[in-house]
Amino acid sequence: MKVELLAHTPEADLLSATAAKLTHSPSSIQDLRTGDPRELESILRHVLRLGHESVVEHASYTFGISGVSRALTHQLVRHRIASYSQQSQRYVEAEVDYVVPPSIRRAGLEERYVEAMDAAWRAYHHLKQKVPIEDARYVLPNAAGTALMVTMNARSLLNFFELRCCLHAQWEIRALAWKMLRLVRQTSPAIFERAGPPCRTRQHCPMDKSDCRWYPHR
Ligand SMILES: Cc1cc2nc3c(=O)[nH]c(=O)nc-3n(C[C@H](O)[C@H](O)[C@H](O)COP(=O)(O)OP(=O)(O)OC[C@H]3O[C@@H](n4cnc5c(N)ncnc54)[C@H](O)[C@@H]3O)c2cc1C
Repeated sequence: MKVELLAHTPEADLLSATAAKLTHSPSSIQDLRTGDPRELESILRHVLRLGHESVVEHASYTFGISGVSRALTHQLVRHRIASYSQQSQRYVEAEVDYVVPPSIRRAGLEERYVEAMDAAWRAYHHLKQKVPIEDARYVLPNAAGTALMVTMNARSLLNFFELRCCLHAQWEIRALAWKMLRLVRQTSPAIFERAGPPCRTRQHCPMDKSDCRWYPHR
């Protein structure tokens, strides 16, 4: 899996903090922007703790993601507050490229798995001699590799990290979520300081999964 942060709002912490302070200040936007950045960031942390997350919608982040399965992207695109551009299997011929779940390796079933993948791609190559690739692709598996670009604002990312950094999320999208979180934390440490699963950020498990190894026993 390869995940890159291709673009992001410059000085997103400061921008969101300015938005937060503006709502309660008679000062001009220009004066707020040139104010003490440490004071602004502490205001941002305060409003985020109160749950006033709309101020971070001004910050947006674009990721390039490749080497992931279509099973993952099917889960990813359920996050509607985002923009997506994905390599199309209608227009781009599918190379033999697939993700192998670690559980398959651990169970010693990789050989059986590879046979199934080879069979799927053999059928694909056979069919595409006679039908458009958009129809031949129906025999391709959920494991097929894909690439896409995703843009999300920080508020949507906070929701995404809450749901997908959790141990209850599937391993592949969870790995993606943690990689994305590490990238945005480097550019916007204040916004994403407390991002992640609720067990880590709020010592609370909404699903009350007490058998989970991250369950916040107090
Ligand atoms: C562990 C896990 C298991 C899952 N299992 C399943 C499953 O078995 N089957 C399944 O179908 N899905 C499943 N999902 C997907 C899940 O139901 C959500 O579709 C997905 O997580 C996107 O979350 P979201 O709606 O909060 O995100 P977004 O679509 O990005 O929305 C963000 C927020 O905006 C608001 N919002 C967005 N659209 C609307 C709207 N139309 N009306 C009102 N408010 C809106 C909501 O507050 C929402 O939380 C699973 C998700 C997880 C994390």
